[in-house]
Formats: sequence, structure tokens, C-alpha cells
Amino acid sequence: MNYKLIRMKRKSLTISVSSDGEVTVKAPLSTDASYIDDFIVRKLAWIEKKLAEYARRSAVLGGVTDYSQVMLDGVICGIAVSDRHKKVCIENGVVYIPVKYGERDARIRAVAAWYKRGAQTLLSERLGQISASIGLSYASFRLTNAKSKWGSCDSLCNIRLNWRLVMLDGALVDYVIVHELSHTVHHNHSADFWALVQKFCPDYKQRRKRLKTYTPLTAIYR
Ligand SMILES: [Zn+2]
Repeated sequence: MNYKLIRMKRKSLTISVSSDGEVTVKAPLSTDASYIDDFIVRKLAWIEKKLAEYARRSAVLGGVTDYSQVMLDGVICGIAVSDRHKKVCIENGVVYIPVKYGERDARIRAVAAWYKRGAQTLLSERLGQISASIGLSYASFRLTNAKSKWGSCDSLCNIRLNWRLVMLDGALVDYVIVHELSHTVHHNHSADFWALVQKFCPDYKQRRKRLKTYTPLTAIYR
């Protein structure tokens, strides 16, 4: 197995697998090579599980992350360049791109703009609905282009939601909104914070775990 070894001033050995399948071992300066080999052998089942998980994930999201497909509301849709359409739109699970945006870069920009327009309406409405139903209010809402984060809430209760949330299904969008609204009460990730999230979203743990599988989507359309 190929892995990257980083020797550094530290006390223990750690191993990590990145989302692009790279295995990295960080080791103290003085650790023997044979000890590192033994450590890797002991961790092999875990490494293989991680690698399989990432392979599965990139197989599912591959078409979305290479822009040959589009994901909307948790559903992966094909795209077609069309001379019948003047604007980007979705019909029966196919996203149509006007001919003038047919070239790859123009197409990616047009799809991003279409996503953002949809996100503004969908996310502001859903935030308003959930805020009213759980009785937690916020100061303002804006879309964000944040990298690797789906949402945030600052100390003045201004909520920001990543426009890429429109790619995800409603259960995940609702979880992110409940999470950020709960930060209007607890500006941290304390046990009290998670108890509040759970009150409004009893299966938040499963949703949070599922949301993690979509993290690669926060890196696209940049
Ligand atoms: Zn948080």
C-alpha cells in the first residue's frame, strides 16, 4: 500500500485517509520504520473501509463533481444543451442548457447562477418556515459561498446558508437550518446545543452523518 510518511515533532502515530484516497501517516521523529509498518498492518481493516467508503462516494457523486450531471433536491439529473430553451431549466429530471451556454465553462457558470437563484428563494422560505415553527428567530439571512461549510450563525444571529444546499434533499436542508437556528440560543457545540437540535430534529445524528457524505459538493462550482 502506498502512503505518505510525515516525520514531525509529536508524541504519537496517527493515520488518516483523505477524500481523494491518500493515506498519510504522521510519526514522531524517533519512531522505527518497523514499528510504523506494524502500526499500518494493525490499521489495515480501517484503512480499507475508509478507501471503500470514498470510492463509493465518488462513484455516486462523480458525475456531479465533474459537472456532467447536476444534483437538485437530492436527485442526480442529466443535462442537455438545447436550442429550444432560452434559460436554464429543469423538465422531467433533465436540466436544459441554452445553446449559448453550451461550451463547458459557460455551462458551469450558467448552472451555478441557476442554482443560486433557486437557493435564494428556497432557502429563505424554508428558513422562515422552520424559524416560525420552532419559535427561534434570527436577525438576517444571506447566501454564502463558504468552502466546506453548509451554514453559519454569528453572535448577532445573522444566518448564512451555502447556496449548494439546493443540491441536497429537504431532510438535510432542514437539519442545517435547525442547526443554525439552534446557534441563536447556544453559540457553541455544547451538550445543551445538541439537546436543542435533537428536540427539533430527533434523528439529527443520522442526518448529520449523511450530510458528511456530501462535503465534496462544497468544493465544486468555484
Ligand atoms: Zn454549528
